[in-house]
Amino acid sequence: MEQIRRILIVGGGSAGWMAAALLAKLFQGLYQITLIESEEIGTIGVGEATIPAIKKYNDLLGLDENDFLRRTQGTFKLGIQFVDWLRQGSSYIHGFGVIGQDLGWLRCHQYWLKMHGLGRASDFAAYSINTAAALEDKFRRADPKMAESPIGHIANAFHFDASLYAKFLRGFAEERGVIRREGKVVDVALRTDGFVESVTMADGEALEADLFVDCSGFRGLLIEQAMATGYEEWTQWLPCDRAIAVPCARSAAFTPYTRATARSAGWQWRIPLQHRTGNGHVYSSRYVDDAEAERVLLADLDGEQLAEPNRIRFVTGKRRRTWNRNCVAIGLAAGFLEPLESTSLHLIQSAIIRMVRLLPDARFDPATIAEFNRQTDFEYERVRDFIILHYKATERSDTPFWRYCRDMEVPDTLRRKIDLFAANGRIFREDEELFAEESWIQVLLGQGVIPRGYDPLVDIKSEAQIGQYLGNIERVIRKCVDLMPTHADYVARTCPA
Ligand SMILES: Cc1cc2nc3c(=O)[nH]c(=O)nc-3n(C[C@H](O)[C@H](O)[C@H](O)COP(=O)(O)OP(=O)(O)OC[C@H]3O[C@@H](n4cnc5c(N)ncnc54)[C@H](O)[C@@H]3O)c2cc1C
Repeated sequence: MEQIRRILIVGGGSAGWMAAALLAKLFQGLYQITLIESEEIGTIGVGEATIPAIKKYNDLLGLDENDFLRRTQGTFKLGIQFVDWLRQGSSYIHGFGVIGQDLGWLRCHQYWLKMHGLGRASDFAAYSINTAAALEDKFRRADPKMAESPIGHIANAFHFDASLYAKFLRGFAEERGVIRREGKVVDVALRTDGFVESVTMADGEALEADLFVDCSGFRGLLIEQAMATGYEEWTQWLPCDRAIAVPCARSAAFTPYTRATARSAGWQWRIPLQHRTGNGHVYSSRYVDDAEAERVLLADLDGEQLAEPNRIRFVTGKRRRTWNRNCVAIGLAAGFLEPLESTSLHLIQSAIIRMVRLLPDARFDPATIAEFNRQTDFEYERVRDFIILHYKATERSDTPFWRYCRDMEVPDTLRRKIDLFAANGRIFREDEELFAEESWIQVLLGQGVIPRGYDPLVDIKSEAQIGQYLGNIERVIRKCVDLMPTHADYVARTCPA
């Protein structure tokens, strides 16, 4: 059986270096890995918030977590706070990890729904250790030895400076044999069967490979510009198409969560790092012009502006096939979903892992490629649905943008989930979709989808029993949060940059 030998990665943003680092670590010299990047073109320069799965990627590399945080000015993240999404003045947190404790067949929220209906339950936030801690700017890592306590179930992600992360991964990859080529790719040569044969550098040199990994960003140098694979747009459901990003000085509010504040035609992010706070405004150019979008962003920085705004245009959607012949697109070259749930770096990580699990031999078997594309489509579409939910389930009608979102048709896959939850608070994770039931439950409730009824099995327990059960969860979480250090203290003690 003929094996591939040479892998060429085009692009040195987060996607390129995340791919290079993991492939170098896993393959241990089995393949010759080369990465091309161009300092003149540069990288997109944003992407600071993550979800807990990033720990898996770092673990695969064998990184020391405190060292990684020190080098990337990193902080901890317990979830995302959504401000003004349901209506102006409203706020909720999508906290990572479990909520309360299951009882019998049912999840905690089913009992909460009954007691909430009777006016005898606290805010849903009180039953999640992540959310309760986030609201007080407290943090500590989970202690796996305390599985009986909520402390054993804290789930965290990170905020970090993505350009420092890419730099760090570059060092990691180069130490393990990845060859870096500086320079611009000016041409891509295809064979008669449409496979990529080589890329030509500005100095005229042609670099050949067996497998090409397109990490060239939005332009999709190989997958689109050379191979014309096609792009599926999702702008009818996610109408934002521009972003402005700007860092500001770190403020006193050192929150262990990302904040996403809804604006008149989009939303604004706030991401606290150790050395600065990242901010950005994602908006729809159909409903607000660039100057006004910038004014809105700059008017709401909670520290001194530290750089000129970075203006970015995008089209939400994905390539029709992210693996085409001998080219796999990863990162922005594969597709783009706005960073509302901080999923882009995760989609990069899962694409790399999927590529490793379906690594081809020299035949590039079509069934292997089809399976990669099937799994990728499923993952992107379910993440897409989760993001659309934030826009669709709203009471806002104060601007044309929000009226559009509220009234738009949504994909059937999402419609089914909303309808099922609205009936009896039920939600089922589909196969390996990224977001678990807890995530859907928090966002559905936070966006005002309050079920008309609860699961009939709730009534096996008496109201007194349910009251005691919910009261216990709340009390234990309260106690744990009281004992936790502040996020600022924890960072200063464990991983100061
Ligand atoms: C507004 C915004 C906010 C975001 N926020 C988040 C977030 O909070 N969390 C998150 O997970 N993700 C976020 N993302 C996504 C994240 O930024 C990207 O997924 C990530 O940075 C990966 O980018 P990339 O490596 O695919 O592309 P890029 O960073 O654009 O890198 C492309 C690379 O290709 C090289 N290149 C291109 N053309 C050529 C050529 N002709 N020759 C040689 N080299 C070439 C460039 O030099 C560069 O090295 C955000 C994205 C946007 C747009």
